[in-house]
Amino acid sequence: MRRVSGVRAVGVLLALAALLLGAACGREGGPGAAAPTGLTYPVAQNVQVPGSATFAKIQQAGRVKMGVKNDQPGLGVQDPTTGQYTGFDVEMGRMIAAGLGIPADRIDYVVVPSAAREDAISRGDVDYYVGTYTINDNRKQRVGFAGPYFLAGQDLLVRADDPSITGPTTLQGKRVCSVTGSTPIQRVRQQNLTANVVEFQNYSQCVDQLIANQVDAVTTDDAILKGFAAQDPQRLKVVGQVFSQEPYGVGVARDDVAFRAKVNDLIQQAETDGTWQRIYDATLGKSGTPATPPAIQRY
Ligand code: GLU
Repeated sequence: MRRVSGVRAVGVLLALAALLLGAACGREGGPGAAAPTGLTYPVAQNVQVPGSATFAKIQQAGRVKMGVKNDQPGLGVQDPTTGQYTGFDVEMGRMIAAGLGIPADRIDYVVVPSAAREDAISRGDVDYYVGTYTINDNRKQRVGFAGPYFLAGQDLLVRADDPSITGPTTLQGKRVCSVTGSTPIQRVRQQNLTANVVEFQNYSQCVDQLIANQVDAVTTDDAILKGFAAQDPQRLKVVGQVFSQEPYGVGVARDDVAFRAKVNDLIQQAETDGTWQRIYDATLGKSGTPATPPAIQRY
């Protein structure tokens, strides 16, 4: 390996310090500030969404209430020190806000776990939700979905030194952890993959259990599991046998058809003008897995 000279190392350190200082002194500051990824989106002017109650609310407030996750690396995560949110889902949400005329510093982040999403959206606690939210007919009875903006699939996270779990059919007798109200936990039960299912509100809690040897596997979307594995590759690995399709949608009020159409337009635009790819490359794509935007399914 090539050694970095002392002078260069100091130079790099200085540059880093300048970057950090720059970030700390940034004009916006606080959780609403631009993400450390440096991604920004042009804020649309004179936006109108005729017939949309959600948009009327956003416009009146001059702010948007965005439902997110805060513990899913690469997708939706909150930095405990800066309070800033980052990740693919969060960036999609910021892009949508900008398209609705709302800049990043006027977004209020509302953390909603999987089990509470339909309630939060239908009550109007959030204007829209971006957080690994699988589009399906069951959920469509209570909420609407724009998208899909990403295609994931169910997989397994296990301890790196465990060769015994190689796919869904090897889970019998194993302790498997997932999240209340998620599609993966339903699938484990429906397909009787194991009788020993452990349930939490958040995936990070399941991962803690896995590391502590209290469960043998965590199951959810590959995109989520890869983020956890990347944080702790010594102890964790993703099995890599995907056994479902999880198309991610933006959750919106079920009957606000005009708002759903507008969000679909904004996702479509981001997919065609390269914004989607820029977001992916700066977030999830850092893991090295390439991806392209999926076709939007309007209904
Ligand atoms: N995509 C799945 C779901 O919507 C799992 C991830 C999650 O719980 O957010 O249930």
